[in-house]
Order: sequence, then C-alpha cells, then structure tokens
Amino acid sequence: MVEPRRITYVASEKLAKTSSLLPSNRNRSTFVHALITAFDLLRPSPSAASRVVSLLRPSPASESDLTAYHDRCYVDALLADPPGPDRTTCNEFGLEGDCAFFPGLREYALGVAGASMAAARELAEGRCDIAICWDGGRHHAHKSLASGFCYVNDCVLALLVLRRASPAPSPSLDPGNVRKKSRVMYLDLDVHYGDGVAAAFRGAGARGQVLTLSIHHAALGFFPASEHAVLPDISSAAFDPFALSLPLHAGASCATFARVWRTVDRVLEAFAPDYIVLQCGVDGLAEDPLGAWNWSLGGEGGLAWCVQRVLDSPAKVLLLGGGGYSLPNTARAWALLTSLACGVPLSPDTPIPNHAGFTVYAPSFTLDVPPSNVRDENTEDYLTEVDAIFERVVEILRTRLAL
Ligand SMILES: [Zn+2]
Repeated sequence: MVEPRRITYVASEKLAKTSSLLPSNRNRSTFVHALITAFDLLRPSPSAASRVVSLLRPSPASESDLTAYHDRCYVDALLADPPGPDRTTCNEFGLEGDCAFFPGLREYALGVAGASMAAARELAEGRCDIAICWDGGRHHAHKSLASGFCYVNDCVLALLVLRRASPAPSPSLDPGNVRKKSRVMYLDLDVHYGDGVAAAFRGAGARGQVLTLSIHHAALGFFPASEHAVLPDISSAAFDPFALSLPLHAGASCATFARVWRTVDRVLEAFAPDYIVLQCGVDGLAEDPLGAWNWSLGGEGGLAWCVQRVLDSPAKVLLLGGGGYSLPNTARAWALLTSLACGVPLSPDTPIPNHAGFTVYAPSFTLDVPPSNVRDENTEDYLTEVDAIFERVVEILRTRLAL
C-alpha cells in the first residue's frame, strides 16, 4: 500500500495579521488565507485519501534564529525596540525607501522567519513531505541589508535548516544509499532575480549541498541590478554550477516556460535533491503591476503545470510565497497551488466561493489568471541558446557531483 503524502500548511491568524502589515503587500496574507479557507482546501475530501493535511501554527523566530544567517548588528537594527534607529544606521542597512521601518516590523520579521523555519523543520524531521508557507519567500534580503521589500531572508534560513537535515533515504535519489549529507535545491520562479539567496550560497556550493536556480526577468534597470542575473558563462573563473541564473525577456508566456522547463528538469535530474525549496513569487503572472511577463496559471507551461512537476519529483518540497502585487491574482495563484499540493486540484475556471473577500475577484469571479495580449520577446534563437548553455552547465554539474 502506498503511504499517504503528508502536507503541512503553516499559517495562523496572528501571522496573517502581521504579514498583512508589510507596506508593499498590505492585507495580502489575510486575503490569501481567506480564499484557501473558503475553498476548504485544508480538509481534503475522502476522494483525496492519499493525502493527509495538517495545519501548523508557527511560533515567531528568536533573535538568535535570525543570526543563523544575518549579521548580529543588522538584526539589532532591524529589531530595535523602540524602533527607528538613526538615519546613518538606516542607510547602512538599507532600512529606508522600499524597506523603511513600519509599525509592527519586529513582529513581522520574527513571524515570517519563524514560519518558514518551522515549515523546513517539519520536512527535515520527517513529519511531512510537502510544507507550504505563503508568508515566506523574502528572497532579496542580504546578510546585513534589507532590499526589495525584504527584511529577513527566510528562504536562506529554511535552506540552512534543510542543509543540516539527514538525506531522505530514497532509492530513486540515492540508489546506493551512499549520501552522507542532504542535497537541497532552491528554485525561484519570482519575476525578480533571487539575489539574496544566490549570494548566501554562491561559492559554498562546491561541497555540493545547496544549488540555487533563479528563473527571472532581466533587463537594464529592472530590479535587482546584479552582475549575476545573466546566463551562466562557463568560461569564466567565477562560474559556479551551484549558483544558476536563467534570465528571460519581456512577455515570457506559458510557451516559454514549457520550453525552459526542459532545463529545470535536466538540472533536477543531475542534482537529484533530497529537498526542494520552491519560491513561488507570482509577480510574473500577466498584468502584475511590477512584473514584465505574461505568464498564466493554467495549461502546459502555466504556473500550475510547473509547480506540479516539482511536486511530482521524489524530493520533499517546501512551497514559499514571494512577490505578487495584484492582491486577487496572488490569492488565486496560491489557492490553486495549495489545491495541487493537497491532492485536490482545482481547475482555473473554478468559481470563487462566496466569502468575506469575494468582491476583489471581480469581474471574472473565477480562479483563472489568463494571459494578456503582450508579445513574448523570448525568441526561438534565444531559447535554443539557453538550452545549449545549460546542457554544458549540467555536464559540469555532474562532473563536480561525482568528485
Ligand atoms: Zn518579485
């Protein structure tokens, strides 16, 4: 008999309340959890007997939990109580502009870090196979710098928890059962390059334990400015096969994702991770106010198709949130992904159930985020180049892993 897949959904009213204070995504968390509750996704029907879903109410992280990655002086400035360090300190740590102080920042930072770390611990300690934490996914925060609406890098903190975990004994991942240490892959689908996470592990991947791959939009002036947000250059001395970037052009659509997913599959197959942390930023969906793509939810190459392929891999999976600046579309996307993880997949044309947030889903009142008529600038030539480069990257990766 096949063991049921165990899913842990990490959320609490308190966490939704503090997450909803984040100025860039005010009230988003409340709407997301309200829609997921309205669909009754956390109580799968008897037809989904192959799944067991449990709710975990996380505790906030401690200050010392944050220093597992962040510098002590940054943590002190971030959590200052009373808040509001002087102007020079703010400037030094990026606590200004789009990462300015806001009332509740301390509770927010500790709450989000605690939630993603708790989700990672559930996986690491073998209590679940899929963990979901939509309040996490703050991929731009650096060791001692807030950036791009991100104050604490919960993705890195979760990856560190999983890196310490034992490898999952799996004949398909580790046929000879020879692995001494776990392998953890970070896959980032947010339209913005996952610079904070890549920076945390770049150069440390030589030990073959953490591999980061960010698929993102890249164009002059598009956030974040980073010399690493480009196609891998295997001839460069700085090339690291464990810190990978796959930039796409404007208007990336399902067709482009279906195409580049061959590359994702190749990397996955070569690295064979025990754990995958999947950052599901949804600001690449059509009509996101900060996005540049034309991605949609359904169909081949759609967000749901891509995430399902990750969920079907033998690895244990942590689903994190991230960007998403259309409040209703973010809630739609994460509700749909929750339904996949819980084994009760909703179709994109499912009507939105009547609940307190109902009116924001006008005018369609369905779950779908359809594409707009923006042109996909990712040409056949470009996608062929991506294929060819990553074929070489994967060869190098295999060689490095075999050392
Ligand atoms: Zn983003």
